[in-house]
Amino acid sequence: MRVAIPFGKTKIYTGLVYEIHTSPPDSYEAKDIHQILDEKPIVNERQLHLWEWISEYYMCTLGDVFRAALPSAFLLESETAILKNNEFKEESELTDDEYLIFEALGYQSELNVNQVVEILGKKTVFPVLKKMLDKEAIILKERIYEQYKPKLIQYIKLNPVYTDEKLNELLESLNRAQKQRDAVLSYFQLNASTKKPIKKSDLEKDSGVSSAVIKALVTKGIFEIYFIQVDRIQFDGTTNQLKQLNEFQQKALIEIEESFKTKEVTLLHGITSSGKTEIYSELIQKTLDKGQQVLYLVPEIALTTQLIGRLQTYFGGQVAVFHSKYSMNERVEVWNNILENRENSQIIVGARSSLFLPFDNLGLIVVDEEHEGSYKQFDPAPRYHARDTSVVLARIHNAKVLLGSATPAIESYKNALDKKYGFVELTRRHGDVLLPEIELVDIKEKHKKKRMTGHFSDRLLTLIQEALDLKEQVILFQNRRGFSPIVECETCGIAPECPNCDVSLTYHKYKNELRCHYCGFKRPMLYNCGACGSEKLNNKGFGTEQIEQELIKLFPNTQIGRMDLDTTRGKFGYQKIIGKFEAQEIDILVGTQMLSKGLDFSNVTLVGVLNADSMLNYPDFRAHERCFQMLTQVSGRSGRAKKRGKVAIQSFNPNHQILQQVSTNSYQQMYKEQLEERWQYHYPPFYRIIKITLKHRDMYKVDQGAEWIGKSLSNIFRDNLLGPTTPSISRVRNQFIRVLIIKIPPKQSIKNTKEQLNRIKNVFQSVKDFRPIKMNIDVDNY
Ligand code: ADP
Ligand code: ZN
Ligand code: ZN
Repeated sequence: MRVAIPFGKTKIYTGLVYEIHTSPPDSYEAKDIHQILDEKPIVNERQLHLWEWISEYYMCTLGDVFRAALPSAFLLESETAILKNNEFKEESELTDDEYLIFEALGYQSELNVNQVVEILGKKTVFPVLKKMLDKEAIILKERIYEQYKPKLIQYIKLNPVYTDEKLNELLESLNRAQKQRDAVLSYFQLNASTKKPIKKSDLEKDSGVSSAVIKALVTKGIFEIYFIQVDRIQFDGTTNQLKQLNEFQQKALIEIEESFKTKEVTLLHGITSSGKTEIYSELIQKTLDKGQQVLYLVPEIALTTQLIGRLQTYFGGQVAVFHSKYSMNERVEVWNNILENRENSQIIVGARSSLFLPFDNLGLIVVDEEHEGSYKQFDPAPRYHARDTSVVLARIHNAKVLLGSATPAIESYKNALDKKYGFVELTRRHGDVLLPEIELVDIKEKHKKKRMTGHFSDRLLTLIQEALDLKEQVILFQNRRGFSPIVECETCGIAPECPNCDVSLTYHKYKNELRCHYCGFKRPMLYNCGACGSEKLNNKGFGTEQIEQELIKLFPNTQIGRMDLDTTRGKFGYQKIIGKFEAQEIDILVGTQMLSKGLDFSNVTLVGVLNADSMLNYPDFRAHERCFQMLTQVSGRSGRAKKRGKVAIQSFNPNHQILQQVSTNSYQQMYKEQLEERWQYHYPPFYRIIKITLKHRDMYKVDQGAEWIGKSLSNIFRDNLLGPTTPSISRVRNQFIRVLIIKIPPKQSIKNTKEQLNRIKNVFQSVKDFRPIKMNIDVDNY
């Protein structure tokens, strides 16, 4: 249960009772608990087990996990209210500021800190308040309030004095108010036909009157409004039977069930559009039949409208969605429903943080698109990997984990080949549609021969035109990374930079402004170079926005849509664009990586990749693996229903082995080559990696700290310590960054390594000079 606990003089925090004991602390005097906030536990013991594991494995505090796990509405805020001390009479002793506050409290029984800030017209009001407290002119009231407000729905009922006999009288009295009469008549009709409480909104719809009319009737005392509390997350629709599995899916299902008999985790390697979701659904049904809950993990919940729709047609109201874009209240509702093991929360679809929910009896965890990098949390702590954590969660519940992907992570594939995980393959697309034909377009060659129009090769333009002629749809993919449009001076070559970070600002055409993608800084577009004054400023690189502009010129009578971070803000942003594309209101959809994730459109026959090179050149040991996965996934959006699809990948370097492997669907070959490189250069899955990041505003200080840590660590880890180094983006939000990496060889104990690191960290943080340096530890850094 949660408790409110006092800290210092006036602060109150929310804590969770973790253990009850009777040994008092010896270094300080314990205070009483201020208040117990729950009537029954809101966290169960299995959750605590998982949190303990996370905190130990990922080297963070239990408090870090607690904060990440609970919806923020559960973490109560304390708000200080200031009251006048009515005993205080020596007004002449007050300074001007103090008197202002004292006087304001004469008009208003209490003030909060913000109001005091307003009254005094300055930010630092605590010293003033403290003085007043010392003089006993004011007293503080500590107030705790619950942020969670259940949603209330307005219902209408007729004032009980209007019995059936008096109905005529009532209607007659409304003869001059036609609309009000309509509303009353509608009420009687609804009441007679449904016999259920009548929602205000339904009455408005049925009678066609406005809410003002109903309000007038309430004022007259004819209608009364009352409230019923409802859950926000509801499903009202009908369900369908599961699809009949085809013979390959049937076989895969049997193999998975067989493998679950001996293995906790099974990897399903099924090519795009082979029907993995149908297999998951069968397994979900079987788990529900046993009376157990299912957790369905997805990399990014916002992209899963289609998936949720599919699951709801099979499982109806048993599906609950845990969504970071839901309001706090909605998340609290989902939490409580799962805690109570309610019927409406048997299948939970969510991104990584749904691992923290209060499951009661979990039978199956599906990790869809298990290769996705977004399963790893970067900031803040806990820096956990949801796929790996799901294995631990499953063990706690004695449940099974199914990892699914068309392009498994190298780690998972290796675990499967090593027989740590079960392994099942699905190599046919449903309906025997062939995998798309992938064509590599050499744009170096095209540039030389002047066959490029903007960013499009003549070949890609022909393919687009062919698809459009057949009334088929096209997806164009533009990798975001490294291709933000940058403004550069043609005279002196300098690009405007963010004042807080060491990166160039990117140009946003729509708002005509320059923005920093790291800290959010923005300013209007420049018309002169800040360095030399020249007016010749040029856009370099290209983003989705620029591709869209080019397309509008190239295909003037075509509907073009764009899907990227800018066009998909808000809870329903994605849904709208995806819905339009599904309804074929959009012919060509341009987008970023978002497009690669699990979408299923039946009329798309061409996928174009504008430039594959930026993904390959990214300085990261996973860059090649990621590039293979992303290109294979976007290609998989083509030709899913009837006809074999086409994919055109433009590149300056079409002979690159990764592009060759993508175009020939050679996952195994990619795996083999990448694995050899990982072994040779001491990377995962052979070596484990712990990354240490230091940050401080003062470059000298952070360098000193990094050097000290570097020396201490290299005494222990020798060649397996890399750094300290300065990352390519060395300053973000005015903080200088230094990085160290510890590699843990296969035979070295991970536990010992972490203990040693923790010891050094403790010494580091006890040095006064180093204490202000922020130190982050990231285990299994991705
Ligand atoms: P994956 O998740 O492997 O990419 P999906 O599960 O999205 O594949 O399946 C691709 C398409 O084929 C979907 O539209 C799905 O409804 C359809 N499909 C798959 N299996 C069957 C089946 N057994 N019967 C009917 N349709 C199926
Ligand atoms: Zn210049
Ligand atoms: Zn910045």
